[in-house]
Amino acid sequence: MIEWMIETATKRYPLLLGDGAARELPSLLRSLACPPGTKLFIITDDTVAPLYLDEVRATLAAAEYDVYAYIIPSGEAAKSFDNYYACQTAAIKCGLDRRSVIVALGGGVVGDLAGFVAATYMRGIRYIQMPTTLLAHDSAVGGKVAINHPLGKNMIGAFHQPEAVVYDTSFLRTLPERELRSGFAEVIKHALIRDRRFYDWLRAEIKTLADLRGEKLAYCIEKGIDIKASVVREDEKETGVRAHLNFGHTLGHALESELGYGALTHGEAVAVGMLFAVFVSERFYGRSFAEHRLADWFAGYGFPVSLPAAVQTRRLLEKMKGDKKAYAGTVRMVLLCEIGDVEVVELEDDNLLTWLDEFSRQ
Ligand code: NAD
Ligand code: MG
Repeated sequence: MIEWMIETATKRYPLLLGDGAARELPSLLRSLACPPGTKLFIITDDTVAPLYLDEVRATLAAAEYDVYAYIIPSGEAAKSFDNYYACQTAAIKCGLDRRSVIVALGGGVVGDLAGFVAATYMRGIRYIQMPTTLLAHDSAVGGKVAINHPLGKNMIGAFHQPEAVVYDTSFLRTLPERELRSGFAEVIKHALIRDRRFYDWLRAEIKTLADLRGEKLAYCIEKGIDIKASVVREDEKETGVRAHLNFGHTLGHALESELGYGALTHGEAVAVGMLFAVFVSERFYGRSFAEHRLADWFAGYGFPVSLPAAVQTRRLLEKMKGDKKAYAGTVRMVLLCEIGDVEVVELEDDNLLTWLDEFSRQ
C-alpha cells in the first residue's frame, strides 16, 4: 500500500493506493475527523455497484458509519443535470448535513458528477474519490468537477478538492480492456509532457496492455497522479501551465465530437491527438522524433494511429478553433519540444489544415 499527500495550492489531502485500499477507509475517515455515526452517501454507477458496492458498504457499516447509496446509469450520458438533480434529491431525503461526506465510487463520470453534487449540496460538503478506472487517475485529482450540458461537455461545474483519494487497484481487475487502454493514454500523456525517465520506464516495462497489472499498474497510477498533481499545484485554476495537460486533446476533442461521443474512447482519441501534436511539433520546430517510433509504440497497445478515413480535415479544424485554449479563433496547441517537455503554441489555420491533410494521408 502506498500513502502520500497530494498538495494543491489550496489543500493537502491523502491518497491511498494499492490492492485492498478500500479496507482502509474507516481508519482514513477517522483521521479526517469523520467519527463513526457520520452520514456517508455513496454515489456509484450500475456497472460498478454490483461489483463493489456491497463490499464498500459493508466495510463502512462495520465501522458504524451511517451509509446510504445512490446508483446512476453507467456511461458519459449520466453526467447530466437530471442525475445531478436526482442525487441532490436523494441526499436531502437521506438527511445529509454539512458534516456528511459523499463517496464517489466509480470512474471519471461518477467522480465528476458526485464531486459536483458535493461542491454544491448545502454550498459544499466534503467528498472522497474512490476511482475504479485507470482513466480516473486523471479525474480524481485536480479538483475539477462537472456535469455536461447538451450544448457542451463539462460546461457546468466547479473547483472542489476531495478530502482523500482511495484507489483500490484490485477494483481495476474487472475493467474491460478498452477502458484500460483509454486510461493508459493519459498515463502516456503525463510521461510525454513532464517526465522523460517515466517515459523510458514505460517503453521498457509496459510492452502490452497485459503488463498493466499489479505493481506496474500501481506505479503507472502513482506517476500519473504525481505529474498531474504537480501541474495542478502550479496552476490550480488553469491560467498557465495546466494547459499542458491538454497535450493531444485539441485534435482528440475535435475527433470525439466529430465522430460522435463513444465511437472512439477518450483515450483512443487522445492517442491520435498526441501523434498529430508530435507531427506538428516536428514541422513547427524543424526536428524529428522518428527515432522514437511513437506510432508503432501506440499501435502495440491497440491504439488507432491515424485519422479515420471518414473525417473531413476542414471540419476538424473548425472544431479545433472552438477549443477552450483558442483565443479569438486562433488555435493554440500543446507541442512537444523534447520528450518530457511541452509548450503552448499559436498556429495559423492554413498551416494546420495543410498538416491535417498531410497527417491524414500518412
Ligand atoms: P466512466 O466513469 O464512464 O467509466 C468507464 C466505464 O467503465 C463505465 O461503463 C463504468 O461503468 C465502467 N467501470 C468503471 N469501473 C469499473 C470496474 N472497476 N470494472 C468494470 N467496469 C468498470 O469513464 P472514465 O473513463 O473513468 O472517465 C471519463 C470521464 O472522466 C469523462 O466524463 C471525463 O470528462 C472525466 N474526466 C474528468 C477529469 C477531471 O479533471 N475532472 C479528467 C479526465 C476525465
Ligand atoms: Mg483527458
